[in-house]
This record gives sequence, C-alpha cells and structure tokens, in this order.
Amino acid sequence: MQQRVTILGATGSIGVSTLDVIARHPQLFSVYALTCHQQIETLIQQALVHQPQYLVVSDPNYYARCQQLAAEAKLSAEVLCGADALNMVASAPEVDTVMAAIVGAAGLLPTLAAAKAGKKILLANKEALVMSGKLFIQQVQQNNATLLPIDSEHNAIFQCLPTSFEYANLANAGIDKILLTGSGGPFLNCPLTELAHKTPEQACAHPNWDMGRKISVDSATMMNKGLELIEACWLFGLKPDDIEVVIHPQSVIHSMVQYNDGSVLAQMGNPDMRTPIAHALSYPQRIDSGVQRLDFKALSDFSFTAPDVNRFPNLALAMEAVKAGQYASTALNAANEVAVAAFLQGTLSFTGIAELNSNIMQKMPSVELDSVDDIIAYDQQIRQQAMLALRGAA
Ligand code: NAD
Ligand code: MG
Repeated sequence: MQQRVTILGATGSIGVSTLDVIARHPQLFSVYALTCHQQIETLIQQALVHQPQYLVVSDPNYYARCQQLAAEAKLSAEVLCGADALNMVASAPEVDTVMAAIVGAAGLLPTLAAAKAGKKILLANKEALVMSGKLFIQQVQQNNATLLPIDSEHNAIFQCLPTSFEYANLANAGIDKILLTGSGGPFLNCPLTELAHKTPEQACAHPNWDMGRKISVDSATMMNKGLELIEACWLFGLKPDDIEVVIHPQSVIHSMVQYNDGSVLAQMGNPDMRTPIAHALSYPQRIDSGVQRLDFKALSDFSFTAPDVNRFPNLALAMEAVKAGQYASTALNAANEVAVAAFLQGTLSFTGIAELNSNIMQKMPSVELDSVDDIIAYDQQIRQQAMLALRGAA
C-alpha cells in the first residue's frame, strides 16, 4: 500500500531531498500535503510534480499570491494558510507519514499534532524535540506514534542499535556509550582570533553538507552538535554522560554505538541526507535513495579528535542545559534562534552568538514546564530577553 506523506517545510533543504526520494518510488509514496513559509514559487513547482491535495503557506502575507499562482497553474490542490492548517495536514486521517522539516520552534505545534494523531513522524526538526523533550516523547508513546530520526547522526545511532533496544535501557542492550560524530564545520582549524570576523557567507559554506542557513550557522558554532546531544538524550532515553562527541571532519561515519564487548558499530555513507530520509521513509525495508555509493578507495583521510570547547563554547552550554532540566534546553534553543537570526542579518558577530547564549543561560529563570502552553510562553519570554540583550549589546 502507498504511504501518504505530508511534508512540513517542503521547500527547504530536507523537504527538497524528501521529494527527490519520493519521486523515485511513485508506487510506494504519494504526497498528501506540502507546506512552506514564504517560498511559494518553489511550492507551486513542487505541487505541479507531486499533485498534493493541500498546500499550506504559514506566512499570511504570501497566502493570496500563492492562491493566485495555484489557480494560474490549474492545480487541483486546496491552498490553506496558518497554524491550524499546518496542524490539520499533520494530523488528518488520510495521512500516514509526516516529515517534520520546518526549521526552529515554528515546527513544534504541527509536529506535536502529528504525534497526538499517532502518525509515523520522520523528525528532522530537532529544535521541536529540544524545546519540548519529555512532553513530546510522552505524546509519541501515549498515542502509539512512530518516531524515526532523520538527523544523520541519530539515524546512524538508530541503525546501530539492536532492533530489540528498549527506550533508555542501555545496560540491557550491552551498550557502553554513544559516539556522536560531527565534522567541526567550516571553522574547525581557523585561528581563534579570526572567528569574531567570520561572515554569514563563510559560516554557511559547510565543507561537507548543503543545508539551510540556520543549521549551517549552528554547525559552524557547533550549537548543532549541542542540540543533537539533547536530541539524542530524548530520542533514545540517554543521559548526557552516555554520549561522547567526536570530531570526524570527513563526515563519512555518521555516528557510532560502542558495546561492552569492545565492538563499535558505525553507520557510514556519503554525506547526503537522502540516505537517512530513504531509510526512515521505507523502514524497515531498504529502498534506493539516489545517493552515490561510498568508495573507500577514494577516501584520502579518516580522522577523529576531541572537540575544543574554547573554540565551540556552545557545546559546553548544551551539556550544561541538558543537565539543568527542560527549561534550560528550551531557553538555550530560543536564545540561539534569536542569536543566529541576528548574525544572519549582520547585527551580531559570529562569536556574539555563543556570548548571547551564555548571557541568557546565566539569567534564565528556573521553572517547571509542564504543558505545551508553558513551553511556548517560556520560549517567548526568553526570546524577548535575548532581543533586549541584543539591543543592549548594539
Ligand atoms: P531550510 O531553511 O532549508 O528549510 C526550512 C523549511 O521550513 C522551509 O520549507 C521553510 O519554508 C519552512 N519554514 C521556515 N520558517 C517557518 C515558519 N516560521 N513556519 C513554518 N515553516 C517555516 O532548513 P533545512 O536545512 O531543511 O532544515 C530543516 C530542519 O531539519 C531543521 O530543524 C534542521 O536542523 C533539520 N536538519 C536539517 C539537515 C540538513 O541537511 N538540511 C540535517 C539534519 C537536520
Ligand atoms: Mg545532524
């Protein structure tokens, strides 16, 4: 039977790669809905190819124009707008699988709607899990949703775990630790004194991966690895000390699981997100992803080092946050989204990102976040604090 798929954030890097895999297997997948924030021209082009039933534009300023373009293109899809429409296409009874590929906190509510509706969720949107952790996992478990990781590291860990792995039970599976690999980004070896002057273009020029701008900056500051550390804790029920971050600049090993008999299982492949996307779309089967096969003879180097927290202070902040509790992860994510947006707009320096994150973590109030409303209110409160701190710094 065909899987009917909604892609939240269809016009982004992950969305485009997902549609590429889907197009290779028309007998296996059909597209139910595609969503975007502002890139309506791309959305219309995608709709012409994939003929979804719904298109959702989340920014209301682009709604009327998108309706007009859809009519001109003679699309049969209904065009909707806003948060309720996002939730609807993520939870509709006709949908089997939801690709959560919106960037940032904006993806939380529709991804949660998919969890509540018991969908198969392919999670790329790590920020949603970082900001809501336990609550998100509870919704998945209570509603029998299936959560499959798209982040290449977490997908690799998932592939290296035994199929009998029970959430949070490392000892039962004979696991010593998880080795979370990261490339170190474009500034791994540049002199520390140059970091403050790095531009958005330099930060977004990742040596191995072609990604959206926010995650590219996060990779350059290694906040991405910090968010992934928190993400791994929630996805697999790990404690932060179960995870060791290892720099592997070639991005061929995507992460590893070390067992107590000395075995280390690694998942490898060329750095192309279509591998984890195809894996999760077709799990537990395997399908062609279009990714070029790994040629070991062509690999010139294969190296591993420990991360330098002087260069990447965000990594230490993430470790601190996950140990402190949910509020701290929510705060760090919110501060970082504000900081990265300011850096991309040219109003904050590259090193200012970690400075702002650290400043907010020193001031953040310690509170219990028991509901989605609590989480969203706290996220907003921290964003305001971060904006104020930015203005003070300007
Ligand atoms: P991107 O910027 O290329 O695309 C983001 C998508 O989200 C676009 O479709 C955009 O229209 C939509 N969007 C943006 N703001 C929105 C808003 N306020 N409301 C609703 N929709 C909005 O980002 P990406 O690189 O595809 O990353 C998407 C997510 O996947 C991120 O959470 C990222 O961390 C994660 N991820 C990406 C990669 C990668 O290789 N690109 C790898 C691992 C994880
Ligand atoms: Mg990743």
